[in-house]
Amino acid sequence: MHAIDLSAISDDSLKACESIAAEAGVDLKDCYQCGKCTAGCPLADGMDLMPREVIRYLQLGAIDVVLEAKTPWICAQCVVCSSRCPQNVDICSVMRAVRQASKRAGNRPVPEADIFDDEFIANVRAQGVSNEQYLAAAYNIKSGHFMQDMGNATRMLKRGMVGVAMHNIEGRAEVAALIDRALAADAERHADAQKGGEA
Ligand code: SF4
Ligand code: SF4
Repeated sequence: MHAIDLSAISDDSLKACESIAAEAGVDLKDCYQCGKCTAGCPLADGMDLMPREVIRYLQLGAIDVVLEAKTPWICAQCVVCSSRCPQNVDICSVMRAVRQASKRAGNRPVPEADIFDDEFIANVRAQGVSNEQYLAAAYNIKSGHFMQDMGNATRMLKRGMVGVAMHNIEGRAEVAALIDRALAADAERHADAQKGGEA
């Protein structure tokens, strides 16, 4: 953890942290910093803040540290941390809410993760199911990793494991409507959390 000058933490910073917690449905006071979330996280080795530290900085109101961290962008949303927490703190949802807040603040500490997110949602929305070859192509072009997966793709094409045909599943419109509803619900949760922070 970095040393934090608590006298420099503003009310707005505290409110922003509370708003993130509210969006995730978490009461930050529930966390007593036992570290079980960090101990179970499969991606902790690659993180700049441990999951426990993300919660601690939010408790302290250190919003800038949290919004600039790579951790929420590396988080795979596997829910191990939330399921291990003895206090039922849903850290996984906190990571998601931090990531969205970070994006709204104009931060993209791991741009590839942001590009992949957007492309994955667009891909499933358009085709009703993830179409990996189109997802990989769109991601590689937009992230600038043009040649990534070329070796594997060639082998997979030869063995018929992937093809160029579009998936043609039924119910595409319903899947698109579901995604739209989920995105709208996210926006509503954020608006409610903001209102709570302003009250
Ligand atoms: S497991 Fe729960 S209580 Fe323990 S540090 Fe993580 S969030 Fe806090
Ligand atoms: S949800 Fe994220 S923070 Fe939690 S254990 Fe999985 S990767 Fe780690």
